[in-house]
Amino acid sequence: MPLTVNCPICKIPVQWSPQSEFKPFCSERCKMIDLGDWASEKHAIPVKSEFDVDALDELGYDEESFFKE
Ligand SMILES: [Zn+2]
Repeated sequence: MPLTVNCPICKIPVQWSPQSEFKPFCSERCKMIDLGDWASEKHAIPVKSEFDVDALDELGYDEESFFKE
């Protein structure tokens, strides 16, 4: 009985074999969806730490209110 894993995206069983090119995904489509999710999560990480807060203070910005959406 071949080992199978469930595709992380659509949950269908994927045979874990050299023929399963996109394992653990069932297809290139699901692999790309996963990569897209990862990229969008990364993109959502706040960039606040990249700002020089002291420099902003000198410009008269209040840190908390300046970054509030
Ligand atoms: Zn899938």
